Amino acid sequence: MKAVVYHGQEDFRVDHVEDPKILEPTDAIVRTVRTAICGSDLHMWHAPTMEIQGFTVGHEVLGVVEDVGADVRHIKKGDRVLVSCTTGCGHCQMCQHDAWGACEKTTAHGMWTNIFGNPILPGGQAEGLRVPYADTNLYCVPEAIEDERALFLSDILPTGFMGADLAEIQIGDVVVIYGSGPVGVFAQRSAVLFGASAVIAVDLDDGRLAKAAARGCVTVNPTKQDLSEVVAGLTNGRGADSAIEAVGSAPLVTECINIVRPGGHVSVIGVITDDPVPISIMHGIMGKNITFRAGMVEPQKYIPRLLPMIEQGKLDPSEIITHRMPLDKAADGYRTFANHDEDVLKVVLEP
Ligand SMILES: [Zn+2]
Ligand SMILES: [Zn+2]
Repeated sequence: MKAVVYHGQEDFRVDHVEDPKILEPTDAIVRTVRTAICGSDLHMWHAPTMEIQGFTVGHEVLGVVEDVGADVRHIKKGDRVLVSCTTGCGHCQMCQHDAWGACEKTTAHGMWTNIFGNPILPGGQAEGLRVPYADTNLYCVPEAIEDERALFLSDILPTGFMGADLAEIQIGDVVVIYGSGPVGVFAQRSAVLFGASAVIAVDLDDGRLAKAAARGCVTVNPTKQDLSEVVAGLTNGRGADSAIEAVGSAPLVTECINIVRPGGHVSVIGVITDDPVPISIMHGIMGKNITFRAGMVEPQKYIPRLLPMIEQGKLDPSEIITHRMPLDKAADGYRTFANHDEDVLKVVLEP
């Protein structure tokens, strides 16, 4: 089959690779119908070439089940399914405690190896993929929901929603969201669902801000406007109730801490690669009694809650799609997304 294969920095190619096979009785094979390029894929695109190469990338997938192992009970051949980007076994102590990202079985080979798109767990930017623990990591999509409205439940919609959830938004809150990329858009939509009275979208890209304004956000380009003045104006000077970091920038973590009021909430969902991040505990988090939370998404927690929201028309995640292209053109898609060309927000690939 065809697959987008990692060959090094800015070098992803569509190669012919071996078809996925059932390896464990709990596996399923999914034929990919739609897959997407994620901001976190760009971290690998930009990073210096790694020693290990030749694996299939991608972790945002919707497809149709082609085959299931003997122990798969709830998923069958022909089901149209969403694939959770992180995998859990569903049975270990961590999965039972809703800490899917730390599953004792699927992280046995190391941190992040439970996320599709690595040498241990080949990804879904391909004509098909093997999904371990299919009963836990696949979700049947109701007929009424089209492929492209369901696709982003695999990762970025739950990620954006988690940003709002961890920020503990209450009705009437004023929320600052750094980043108006795909995850930022879903954090904005989710903040409204949680009852925010004002959502302040902060970004450097005026095109993205114009779209955020059309979505009902107050918009701030910090190179042109003073964010703290805008926040003060909306909160009688007290500061934002919550701030969400959806960029993946270390300095923005401190900005989040500074922009919230005493007793406010900060949630970090952007993937920050320049770790460790220096932040003020004494004058920041402790001094202001801030609730500070960060996490890698566990779609299993949110997909069952978000599917009905899409079915009822409360969310239409397909709004972010700006580019569609055949899988063969994946490298062009990566380049366009990486260079911010053509007002790109989200690239969907069709095998
Ligand atoms: Zn993703
Ligand atoms: Zn587990």
